[in-house]
Amino acid sequence: MDLKIAGKFAVVTGSTSGIGKAIAKALAAEGAKVAVNGRSQKSVDAALEELGLGDQAVGIPADVGTAEGCAELVRQATKIAPIDILVNNAGIFEPKEFDQISDDDWHRFFDVNVMSGVRMSRAVADQMRQRDWGRIIFIASESAINIPTEMIHYGMTKTAQLAISRGLAKTMKSTGVTVNSVLPGPTWSEGVEQFVEELAGENDLAETKATFFSEARPTSLIQRFGKTEEVAAMVAFLCSEQAATTTGAAVRCEGGIVDCCF
Ligand code: NAD
Repeated sequence: MDLKIAGKFAVVTGSTSGIGKAIAKALAAEGAKVAVNGRSQKSVDAALEELGLGDQAVGIPADVGTAEGCAELVRQATKIAPIDILVNNAGIFEPKEFDQISDDDWHRFFDVNVMSGVRMSRAVADQMRQRDWGRIIFIASESAINIPTEMIHYGMTKTAQLAISRGLAKTMKSTGVTVNSVLPGPTWSEGVEQFVEELAGENDLAETKATFFSEARPTSLIQRFGKTEEVAAMVAFLCSEQAATTTGAAVRCEGGIVDCCF
């Protein structure tokens, strides 16, 4: 299926690895031009080299966990073209007991996982509305609904993303701009590899990985980690012309973890 996004310009935050990189690749495969973002020039250059997209990709280093970083990313991106597609993907996660999560942790998670999407969306929403076309996607998580006991602060940020994307979608009523959130389940990315290592601690890593689903996510219907490309395919569809009627939605691709049928 031709997703009809050839020539559109997409900015994917946190796209030097994991799900973000797979999204950049999937959008580029549909003919979109993509801005690859990470915190350092080095990580951006490495991702661009690996993606091998030539002129179809540009690298923009910026820390989207800060207001300055978001402003810089938007400034650099809009020099290239108006942003048609914004994927708020950058996010952090770490296992931590509730009583060990400091005030700084709560604020840091909120800045990186929530405020990045707020600031980026705020910067592009009006021009999308004026051009009567746009796609804004928040990469939330099943953890938005199924709050993980091993990282409640992370769950809080992902629930917040659902509220923001739903509210923002309402402000785009009667326009060609859609706003959605995507809820991946545990997906094997560089970040998750590190997460599982931290979760294992002194315990056996292979054993922790093998028992992750039976112990930490028993309701998963697929009982395996998702692939980054599987999430990226969903995101690419939501960015398509054909997905014009899907807006204000929280779209699940979480392996059926969330035990709810609507
Ligand atoms: P990852 O750690 O593999 O990749 C995250 C990327 O974001 C990296 O490229 C990192 O450099 C970048 N990044 C982090 N902080 C940044 C910042 N301040 N500024 C710019 N870039 C920054 O993680 P992932 O697993 O691919 O996760 C991507 C998104 O998907 C996150 O929002 C995460 O919460 C969400 N998610 C992941 C999973 C999963 O199991 N992997 C499940 C549900 C949701």
